[in-house]
Amino acid sequence: TEHLPAPSPRRRPALSYELFPARTGSSFERLQQTVAQLEHTAPDYVSVTSRTGYQNFARVLELTDHVLEHTRLRPLVHLTSVGARREHLVAAIEALLDRGVRGILALRGDVPEGHVPEDDEFPFARYLVELIREVERDRSALLAGGRLAIGVAAYPVRHPESPTRQHDVEVLVSKARSGADFAITQVFFDPADYCDLVTRARRAGVEIPLVPGFIPATDPKRLHRLAELSGVHAPRELLHALECAADDAERRRIGTRFTVDLIRGVLDAGAPGLHLYTFNRHAEALDVLDALDLDRWSTAGTPDPGTPDPAATPH
Ligand code: FAD
Repeated sequence: TEHLPAPSPRRRPALSYELFPARTGSSFERLQQTVAQLEHTAPDYVSVTSRTGYQNFARVLELTDHVLEHTRLRPLVHLTSVGARREHLVAAIEALLDRGVRGILALRGDVPEGHVPEDDEFPFARYLVELIREVERDRSALLAGGRLAIGVAAYPVRHPESPTRQHDVEVLVSKARSGADFAITQVFFDPADYCDLVTRARRAGVEIPLVPGFIPATDPKRLHRLAELSGVHAPRELLHALECAADDAERRRIGTRFTVDLIRGVLDAGAPGLHLYTFNRHAEALDVLDALDLDRWSTAGTPDPGTPDPAATPH
């Protein structure tokens, strides 16, 4: 018979991985291997990204179903509202609930250039949070009184469309008030940026956990692309070291060391856990996990109110 894992008396920091849906049949096969490798580290959940609106949703469901049916992992499925009609979003939320998904990350998504919004398109993520809560109420019989976990995005480095970092905090306040249970941060490369966000958010009355997000910083091309997309720049010295490395093995050593130091910095400061943007590559994520030795950290008694509450993370 199978044995269920015994509850650990010491709570290690929350751990989660981001995956994106496969684009082809063969990449789905590789992705299944990645999921299996990551499952060995017993993450609290894996998040499944999705693209604008309703496009590619079949691929999102494919990965979600795999996670639900073939692993013990809990999926946190991303939904984006940009380019989507309200009725499509309702159908997507219902499709997720019907297959047993109980965690959704509510996002607006990036607005493509020249985008013409649908008549009833939501301009901001907080309206999607409200819509998910509405569907949850309509489906209360199915959920038997259980509660969905809703996450949102948070930004330690100013969001490219935001006038100030304080404005980002106000937006986070509005998303928390609309019913978000936790937030996952965009990447950042200085622990002070994360700590500053937490301090400002707490001061503004945000009580939900703010889980820091990290990219294993091993690939300079990916870091350049990330800067273009998100406006978050990796330190020049890191990029230089990665670009001058003799081979991939050295790049991995340098990038892993940098990432592990960054994660240690925020865990030491009281962060409730970590979310790894894996880009569907388990090797780099596992390098980071091995070097980090998460069991050394306990979140018990950390002063920050963001210590994860099992009810506030998916399921
Ligand atoms: P919002 O919170 O709505 O903010 C969008 C912009 O509007 C911000 O500049 C904000 O300051 C501004 N704003 C918000 N409310 C107001 C208001 N009331 N008045 C004035 N301005 C306001 N993208 C994807 O396409 N797919 C994914 O799966 C995905 N996953 C992600 C996961 C994480 C953890 C993160 C951090 C980001 C992810 N993204 C994803 C990227 C995200 O969609 C973009 O950063 C997007 O530009 C903003 O989404 P949001 O949910 O933060 O939007």
